[in-house]
Amino acid sequence: MTQFIYSFEEGNADQNALLGGKGANLAEMTNLGLPVPPGFTITTESCIRFLNEPYFFESHLKTGILEAVDQLEKKTQKYFSGNDQALLLVSVRSGAKFSMPGMMDTILNLGLNDLRTQTLAQATNLDFAYNCYRRLMQMFADVVYGIPKEDFDQLLLFFEKNAGKSVKDFTLEEHQALIDQYKQLYYEHHQTFPQSPKEQLFTAIKAVFRSWNNPRAQVYRELNQIPDDLGTAVNVQAMVFGNSDQQSGTGVVFTRNPANGQKGLFGEFLLQAQGEDVVAGIRTPEPIQALEEKMPQAYADFLSYAQKLEEHYKDMQDIEFTIEKGKLYILQTRNGKRTAKAALKIALDLVEEGIISQNTALLRIQPAAINQLIHPVFDEEQLQTASVLAQGLPASPGAATGQIVFSAKEAKRLHEAGIKVILVRHETSPEDIEGMIVSQAIVTSHGGMTSHAAVVARGMGTCCVAGCEALRIDEEAKTLQCGEIILGQGDILSVDGSTGLIYLGQLSTVLVENDQELEQLLTWADQAAQLKVRANAETISDLQTAIQFGVQGIGLARTEHMFFGQERIIEMRRLILAENPLEVKAALKKLLEFQSQDFYQMFQTVGQLPMIIRLLDPPMHEFLPKEEQEIQFLAQTLQKNPVKLTHQIKQLQESNPMLGHRGCRLGITQPDVYKMQVEAIFSSAIRLQQEGLTIRPEIMIPLIAEKAELTYIKDYLVNFIDQLFTKYQIQPFPYDIGTMIELPRACLIADQLAQDADFFSFGTNDLTQMTYGFSRDDIGKFIPSYTDKNILAVDPFQSVDRQGVGILMSLAVQKARQIKPDLTIGICGEVGGDPDSIPFFQEIGVNYVSCSPYRVPAARLAVAQANLLKQEETK
Ligand code: PEP
Ligand code: MG
Repeated sequence: MTQFIYSFEEGNADQNALLGGKGANLAEMTNLGLPVPPGFTITTESCIRFLNEPYFFESHLKTGILEAVDQLEKKTQKYFSGNDQALLLVSVRSGAKFSMPGMMDTILNLGLNDLRTQTLAQATNLDFAYNCYRRLMQMFADVVYGIPKEDFDQLLLFFEKNAGKSVKDFTLEEHQALIDQYKQLYYEHHQTFPQSPKEQLFTAIKAVFRSWNNPRAQVYRELNQIPDDLGTAVNVQAMVFGNSDQQSGTGVVFTRNPANGQKGLFGEFLLQAQGEDVVAGIRTPEPIQALEEKMPQAYADFLSYAQKLEEHYKDMQDIEFTIEKGKLYILQTRNGKRTAKAALKIALDLVEEGIISQNTALLRIQPAAINQLIHPVFDEEQLQTASVLAQGLPASPGAATGQIVFSAKEAKRLHEAGIKVILVRHETSPEDIEGMIVSQAIVTSHGGMTSHAAVVARGMGTCCVAGCEALRIDEEAKTLQCGEIILGQGDILSVDGSTGLIYLGQLSTVLVENDQELEQLLTWADQAAQLKVRANAETISDLQTAIQFGVQGIGLARTEHMFFGQERIIEMRRLILAENPLEVKAALKKLLEFQSQDFYQMFQTVGQLPMIIRLLDPPMHEFLPKEEQEIQFLAQTLQKNPVKLTHQIKQLQESNPMLGHRGCRLGITQPDVYKMQVEAIFSSAIRLQQEGLTIRPEIMIPLIAEKAELTYIKDYLVNFIDQLFTKYQIQPFPYDIGTMIELPRACLIADQLAQDADFFSFGTNDLTQMTYGFSRDDIGKFIPSYTDKNILAVDPFQSVDRQGVGILMSLAVQKARQIKPDLTIGICGEVGGDPDSIPFFQEIGVNYVSCSPYRVPAARLAVAQANLLKQEETK
């Protein structure tokens, strides 16, 4: 028969799904021999059945609860009914598997009624007894009937004012009159306060069960992705009173500092108080160290229990205790919440103290916490009172404050004047790059996690919130509207790229310093990992950042970014708009010079690390001007007729550029461009070789859908490279030509492509776009609605879609490896840096993930965790 009720002696810490976190820990502590007031736990399963089955409580729980209360009476030698013996009072608390602040939580002092309160008053004193009774009535009203607690507080104040004295000095009659008014408040809400302790207990248990489904709890679960069918357990425990006398008190203590991780007790206590007095902040608690002087024995006991608990749970503990008449009781322990900085320090210290292994330390830290360690974050205190303007996608972590600007040009101008700016745009384009570089943060109202703004910002490590559809941006009028609020250029915003929240006004940022500790953890991570981590980077500063973050190579250097500098874009435009071979040749010559310089510096920067350089990918029109004024200027520079030029530009526009003349299609229609790029790569490699550095170029062809595309391009490149070896009079050296796998068809014919490719790299941005048929630049318009309506759990551009895109990827890996078992396969789309996706990538058998430089540290940890969890699974 299913057991629905467990005494604390019967459970243990592993049963947190059944007994809830709190119940499981109370049981564990009881069995460890700690002084825990006795009690019992009603299981989470009972909660779900109670919520779904009428009469379940009456048929399956009631008798068991009464028996458990009997046991409790025996253990405590106190009594839950009657009023002529020692009184057993209990607390009733919820406790789910995961701690859930949204739930109705606690009722204390259950078991008091009019008569029993008088008994208690005789055994202790009037003030204490009625204080307990009032608290019970107030909490019971709140948890069971939703009557606001404040209404009771006001009654109390009113009574004190009328009597002209503090409640502490009330006579019996005055206390009773106040209780009558409390009852009256119940009546006003068409309720009564039950006088029978058992009825109080039954009602309270049912209310806690029901609180599983209250709106706050539901919102919390949704936010934290906690399943709805777990249910909450209920803990019923004998009360001990921290408010009994001067030798009583209560406190909350962490075994290490939760802000910075320093070893040593950190917390506070209040004498003559009950738990919520500490939280309520009416009286100022004292630091725990002060207890040593006031109650040396209780302090010494606490110290030894705290150490025992930390050693037992092998982690920093957050402990609640109560002292009743000099005797210490432990009421709760759990792994303490902590900042990212503290998490790191505590994990490393516990390894050093021999309490946990390196691998356990690696599993203790959330990859997301790493982002807090390498990016600034807003000051916690200021955040409490900050006013949120809107929320978009957390596209690139970090926190920044600055003046709003609506154009890249303005951003640059103000930056040069020493002003910090936040660039706010509908969406960004490659032309905005200079403004983006100088901005503290970038905000867009359109576009998703792989939009231009998001990708570029992540690459640069600039904080970015993308796709914030609540913002109505008028770039012409330079205004930004959100609901009733209208802001203009120069107004201050604060942007949190880790949460997607945008705040009004200025907030201070802090940067956590812990380079060495992080380095230590990530060195262990590299040892524990199977997958390697590379970076997507091409500018010198991004490459340097990536190397500083410990990458094992560059998985994707996008070459198109190299064409957007002022001098370069002109030559690119000259090439695209050329009308005769001479013009083509002149433009290519210039571009070759630029690219050779670039590659030389890039190879020099990465040294011996492998670097995959991708040949030109975007649609041509992205390089062309759109504004009339710019077209006029271009016509002048290229000495062309503006009308003809406008016509030419129009002709180059495409209906669906993402599906159009881009990627390898350019390499087929205009081989000269790819040849120019390859010459730039090889001439740089040769130059460096002469300087003593051996380079093995890795060249990647984008957007292959058909084997013949790859064969055609590879053939002419191989021929061309042979010519280059001759031209530069150099002994041929090895190089690799690989392909991106970013179209569904490429996955399906991966075996054919593997015949010609030296390596594969999954471009999951395009692969997701093409598999779903969702434009990666427009998803901001509808993905929030999809996730809100539970049509999609997460944005598939953020976290890999295992069931669709993932199947294609897995198929591609299998097919390719049938042809070349050792083929190196990587992932260079944005999901490559997503810790939630990384275990899947390990599962399908890729060799590495590649992501923006600032995502590298978290990815290094995530690949280690993926491997450790896999090893645990297969044990
Ligand atoms: C991809 O498609 O995943 C990719 C890495 O290429 P890009 O984002 O440059 O299209
Ligand atoms: Mg792509």
